[in-house]
Formats: sequence, C-alpha cells, structure tokens
Amino acid sequence: MYDVIIVGAGPAGLALAGELRLHDVDVVVLERDTEPTKVVRALGMHARSIELMDQRGLLDRFLEVGTKHPVGGFFAGIQKPVPERLDTAHNFVLSLQQPVIDRLLEERAVELGTEIRRGAEVVGLEQDEDGVTVTGPTARSCVRGTPSAATVAAAPCGSCWASTFPANPPPWTRSSARWR
Ligand SMILES: Cc1cc2nc3c(=O)[nH]c(=O)nc-3n(C[C@H](O)[C@H](O)[C@H](O)COP(=O)(O)OP(=O)(O)OC[C@H]3O[C@@H](n4cnc5c(N)ncnc54)[C@H](O)[C@@H]3O)c2cc1C
Repeated sequence: MYDVIIVGAGPAGLALAGELRLHDVDVVVLERDTEPTKVVRALGMHARSIELMDQRGLLDRFLEVGTKHPVGGFFAGIQKPVPERLDTAHNFVLSLQQPVIDRLLEERAVELGTEIRRGAEVVGLEQDEDGVTVTGPTARSCVRGTPSAATVAAAPCGSCWASTFPANPPPWTRSSARWR
C-alpha cells in the first residue's frame, strides 16, 4: 500500500513526489502517457522557482542545461521594465524547455525512491475502511493506498479529480502490509 498516490507525472506531480520522498512517504506516480511528452510548453523558470531548486540542491543540474537571461524583457507586445531591486540571489530567468524540466524532476524523484508507472491512466477512485483503491483500464493503474492515503491529482484542472485526503492527518505512517 502507498501513503500517497499521485496522478500525473507533470512538473507538479514529479516535484511533489520528490518532496514526499524526502519525508520518507511511500509514493507512486501514475501517468497515462507511456513516454514523457516532447511537447514544449513552458520555456523557462523565474526567480522563485529557481530559488526552490537551489533550496533542494538541484540548481546545478538546471544551470547545466539552461541559459540565463536578464529579468524583464518583452511580453505580449509590451516591453517589461527590469525591476530595480529584486529580492533574490537569482536575479535572472533560466531558459530551458519543459521536457527538460520534467526530466530533471523525474530523475530526482526516482533517485529518492519514487515509483513512476507510465501507461497508467487513472479513471476511478474508491475508498473503504481498508484503504483507497485507484483504478484504470490496465493493471498498471490499479493500486491501493493506506486507509489514510492521500490521492493527489497532479493532472491539470481540465481533468479534475476528486482528492481523498487523510482522515487522520500526518504524521505519515508506513503500512506494514504491502499490497501492490
Ligand atoms: C500551450 C501551452 C503553453 C504553455 N506555455 C507556458 C510557458 O511559456 N511558461 C510556463 O511557465 N508555463 C506554460 N504553460 C503551462 C505549463 O505547461 C503548465 O503550468 C505545467 O505543465 C503544469 O504542470 P502540471 O504538472 O500541473 O500539469 P501537466 O504538465 O499537464 O501534467 C499533468 C500530467 O497528468 C497526466 N494525466 C492527466 N490525466 C491523467 C489521468 N487520468 N491518469 C493519469 N495521468 C493523467 C498527463 O498525461 C500529464 O503528463 C503552457 C501550457 C500550455 C498548454
């Protein structure tokens, strides 16, 4: 059984998985796509996100593959002024494509012990006294969570998911019974 079942291996789900693993939470990520998407959506990171990567010791990995640009610039035909004083140690925009961001976050999550199941679409969620059951069209999607498991939808709002949050809030406990 898992403590947390994350639906969606986008940046939100992968970053969350890494954070949870830092707290030794037993987590699985279920992703319907069999391969990481090559579609480039986001094109970079701003100061606050860069700070978070720094706090997690990940910044070097991002700097290695990204390109620094000055803050400010051009958006929707409007010249944005450069802020006079930005309260950050990372006063730049880091340009890198979202598939690269996803890859780095996935590598980190896996290093920390996250199980990521691709080709695992989630279509159903049920809860009973013994736990939480997530279901989908293939066996890969079908997993069980502890009775207090949180099932977190990290898929975007277009495919909104009900979320089951722990009846008894943390401290997180590892289940002795493993049902996978
Ligand atoms: C056209 C476009 C351009 C964009 N440009 C920018 C930009 O320039 N800068 C910027 O910062 N942001 C941009 N964004 C936004 C950015 O891409 C999103 O904010 C980011 O991808 C959100 O991350 P996420 O993890 O929440 O969702 P996603 O990246 O969408 O990941 C969700 C994942 O959940 C999976 N999933 C969905 N439903 C299920 C299910 N039922 N079962 C299993 N898996 C499921 C999906 O396959 C997907 O992999 C753009 C978005 C779009 C669409």
